Amino acid sequence: MIDPFGRSVSYLRVSVTDRCDLRCHYCMSEDMTFLPKKDLLSLEELDRVCSTFVRLGVKKLRLTGGEPLVRKGIMTLIEGLGRHLETGALEELTLTTNGTQLDRFAEPLFAAGVRRVNVSLDTLVPDKFRAITRWGRIEQVFQGLEAAKRAGLAVKINMVALKGTNDAEIPAMVQWCGEQGFDLTFIEVMPMGDLGEQDRADQYMPLTEVRARLAQHYRLQELDDQTGGPARYVRLAETGQRVGFITPLTHNFCESCNRVRLTCTGTLYMCLGQDDATDLRAPVRASQSDQPLEEAIHAAIARKPKGHDFMIGRGLAPAVQRHMSVTGG
Ligand code: SAM
Ligand code: SF4
Repeated sequence: MIDPFGRSVSYLRVSVTDRCDLRCHYCMSEDMTFLPKKDLLSLEELDRVCSTFVRLGVKKLRLTGGEPLVRKGIMTLIEGLGRHLETGALEELTLTTNGTQLDRFAEPLFAAGVRRVNVSLDTLVPDKFRAITRWGRIEQVFQGLEAAKRAGLAVKINMVALKGTNDAEIPAMVQWCGEQGFDLTFIEVMPMGDLGEQDRADQYMPLTEVRARLAQHYRLQELDDQTGGPARYVRLAETGQRVGFITPLTHNFCESCNRVRLTCTGTLYMCLGQDDATDLRAPVRASQSDQPLEEAIHAAIARKPKGHDFMIGRGLAPAVQRHMSVTGG
């Protein structure tokens, strides 16, 4: 699948549910209205859409959400998709999770062929974790991370940089990840979805500031690792750790974008920061044959936009109305 700008689409991210057991301030408002269950693709339909993408050339699948591990029966989907790893059609099956359920799921995930997980963790301080997530217990995440290590899963921590909330913890997080053997990536807050009482400009911290803070403690060596994704990497000379930066606002990464995103209702977004989308649920439900689905996918890829136009400023409306939990980041 090649888009109009010559980019090969080999990566599908799938939000398997819009629900979550947490309510991170930057991601959701407190009183979210979740989708009626009947609107969701069933696990079988999700498998069918994912498998069609694999047949059309997707090599990497990431399940996200909402919280993917709160979707009922999720292991059935993951175990089913594992068959594409066995045939070699799929190179990687992975997840982005908040880690609260990993204690239970780490072993079955490994058994199904998952080798790496991204775990979102913005602080190491229990009270701060509760404040950011509105009610989460950090001990649950720590237990989940221990289980992931025991099961043999590689872990990357994703930390959203939040001005005045966790910026003072940046060196501590780097050190802790080094001790645990986890990779670490910092993420800039993106303007997605209305948050109710909060203004994004109050949360936004450019990662240039994060780098500057790290540079006070470490020598940063630029790496030109290209994963087709938005992250840029440095190596910390003193510890050898690789640290990533996802900077949609201060540095636009669209030119190497290799991904599209499917929501749990079967809507395909060709760009995280644009509203244009294609419904894949109708072709899935209309026919036993995958041909209408394949045609709809090809038509969507032919419309993949050049890039997003995220901007954050006081009083500015979000770039898109949907919350991150719809497309899963
Ligand atoms: N619940 C899972 C989790 O937290 O990892 C998966 C879904 S979550 C939407 C995926 C990632 O998006 C998380 O790392 C989260 O921190 C990030 N995220 C959510 N809202 C964001 C926003 N407005 N700007 C930047 N990152 C955001
Ligand atoms: Fe849930 Fe993840 Fe959003 Fe936090 S970032 S509310 S854990 S979906």
